[in-house]
Amino acid sequence: MHALKLDPAKPLVLTCSMCGKDERHVRYLMAGTAGGHLCDACTVAAMKIVVKQRLKDFTKRSGRTVAQ
Ligand SMILES: [Zn+2]
Repeated sequence: MHALKLDPAKPLVLTCSMCGKDERHVRYLMAGTAGGHLCDACTVAAMKIVVKQRLKDFTKRSGRTVAQ
């Protein structure tokens, strides 16, 4: 995965596959191998969900509690 470099020679405006914002309204778009793109805001939102879920799984497995 890499941050997409904007190529001014390309007439196509790329958009985030998740929220639909185009490359002019986001800080960066990451290109996926299947052709989709993910913006910085969606990346952070997805990361929060994954971390929360992993934490939940961890506490369930270990029986420990994690300070919020
Ligand atoms: Zn997005």
